[in-house]
Amino acid sequence: MIDPHIPQSTRRDGNAHHYDYEPTSPHFIEQAVQVYLRLSEDGSRWIIDGPSVDGRPLDSALSDHTAQRGECACNSPEECERAASYADQLPLPTAAELVTLITDALD
Ligand SMILES: [Zn+2]
Repeated sequence: MIDPHIPQSTRRDGNAHHYDYEPTSPHFIEQAVQVYLRLSEDGSRWIIDGPSVDGRPLDSALSDHTAQRGECACNSPEECERAASYADQLPLPTAAELVTLITDALD
């Protein structure tokens, strides 16, 4: 059965392409990661710098490094805070994992 409160997806990972800002939608919890670039040795292009591909989780790009829920349209702040707290326990993706996440989001 299709839940009318969950946006229908066309992405490979089963999620909606964009948050729809409806109170009945799943919580909108955000995080961002940094991918460090450096100029290639021949000076012609950007390449991924070593610290971003060392197998460890990527660094958060957010100033306090915690998941953000400021744009969530829900009417249940306690539940939203629990979702954000849970999100903060999840490791951020490694570069290899990020490749898969990007690929899954492109469909
Ligand atoms: Zn929420």
